[in-house]
Amino acid sequence: MIDFKNTKIAFISKSDRDMLKAKLLYKIMASPFITKVAKNLTQLALSIKFPVNWIIKPTIYNHFVGGETIDECIPAVKLIGKYGVKSILDYSVEGKESPEEIEKVMKETLKSIENAGKFENIPFAVFKPTAFTSSHILTKASTGEELTDEEKKEALNFKTRVRKLCQKAYDAGVPILIDAEDSWYQNFIDETVEEMMKIFNKEKAVVFNTWQMYRKDRLEHLKESYKKAVDGKYFLGAKFVRGAYMEKERERAEKMGYESPIHETKEDTDKSYNDALKFSFEHREIISIFNGTHNEESTLLLVELMNKNNIDKKDNRFWFSQLYGMSDHISFNLGAAGYNVAKYLPYGPVKHVLPYLFRRAEENTSVKGQTSRELMLISQEIKRRKQVKNK
Ligand SMILES: Cc1cc2nc3c(=O)[nH]c(=O)nc-3n(C[C@H](O)[C@H](O)[C@H](O)COP(=O)(O)OP(=O)(O)OC[C@H]3O[C@@H](n4cnc5c(N)ncnc54)[C@H](O)[C@@H]3O)c2cc1C
Repeated sequence: MIDFKNTKIAFISKSDRDMLKAKLLYKIMASPFITKVAKNLTQLALSIKFPVNWIIKPTIYNHFVGGETIDECIPAVKLIGKYGVKSILDYSVEGKESPEEIEKVMKETLKSIENAGKFENIPFAVFKPTAFTSSHILTKASTGEELTDEEKKEALNFKTRVRKLCQKAYDAGVPILIDAEDSWYQNFIDETVEEMMKIFNKEKAVVFNTWQMYRKDRLEHLKESYKKAVDGKYFLGAKFVRGAYMEKERERAEKMGYESPIHETKEDTDKSYNDALKFSFEHREIISIFNGTHNEESTLLLVELMNKNNIDKKDNRFWFSQLYGMSDHISFNLGAAGYNVAKYLPYGPVKHVLPYLFRRAEENTSVKGQTSRELMLISQEIKRRKQVKNK
């Protein structure tokens, strides 16, 4: 059985200096107060065009991001690849809406897909659909409202862009993950991704949609998607996450007076996540699973299902994934045990990846002041290394 407590394996790719830096970073992030002040100060600095790169880049950016360009990420890809952990390069530029900006992100994403096709250590490509049209179109098309002719044209442009990306992935022989964000965009994204699966998933799962299992309706949606895949004779690529926008979802629902789409408790989210894994595993002849979580239980659940059913660890229908800079104890121990595991490795200019970094800082902030799991593991490994040296 995999031992996630093995910190020697967990941090095998990190030097002593990396470990001390990581410890300091997680100590700072543990404070909600400091995290909030740092976020506000950074936003203020950006608004008055005060440079922030000098402080962000060597600290939080270096910990969670691969670099500004694909080339800058390659050393990290190679380093973790040595230990059986692959990389998924994620161009993390968010919320761009002008045609010029969309074009730029398009070009870079096509480049990243092509790049993924060339490296064995980059097993997937990925993109955020919100980068390819305006939030207005995604929101309106998702509610089923009547679109104006102009809006219909733009909605179609969105589908054309997504199709171009999926086609590129198909041609490059690399599966492609499509991220999920706010629930009010998702209906139209689901509709688009389903169309892509029908086209590109005839032989195997190439296009993967994302199911955010903190949503009350997603387990049902998964089951319906499975039925459609069976009827339509295509494979279903399913990336599972719990979901990163809980507060925002709840706040919007309250403000606008509709029922929150998010499960009321963490236990409900956990159950729905694990049920989705079990359902997909049962239907593995159609569904390929991408298990995107830092949760040990949900990770072990899939490991156990695979073991019990004598599934080869390298079976391509089963992938585990964590974010770069987080939960190395899961990724590297899975890698050492021979499972398919990959880190989401974001890249992009400092200014553009800030929303991603703020989410990571907030995710790692300790609500009740307790030591985070990351900090505990890092401290244990620093101590272990000291003991080895003193022997
Ligand atoms: C490879 C990868 C890809 C990702 N891609 C996406 C993506 O496309 N879209 C996206 O939204 N996120 C994405 N994420 C982020 C992901 O949603 C968060 O990292 C995840 O929610 C953290 O949960 P966890 O599964 O690691 O487990 P845990 O740490 O056990 O769970 C924390 C999560 O549980 C849920 N939760 C917590 N408290 C409650 C509560 N009171 N009630 C209900 N639910 C609660 C929230 O979703 C919270 O984030 C990705 C993460 C990874 C590792």
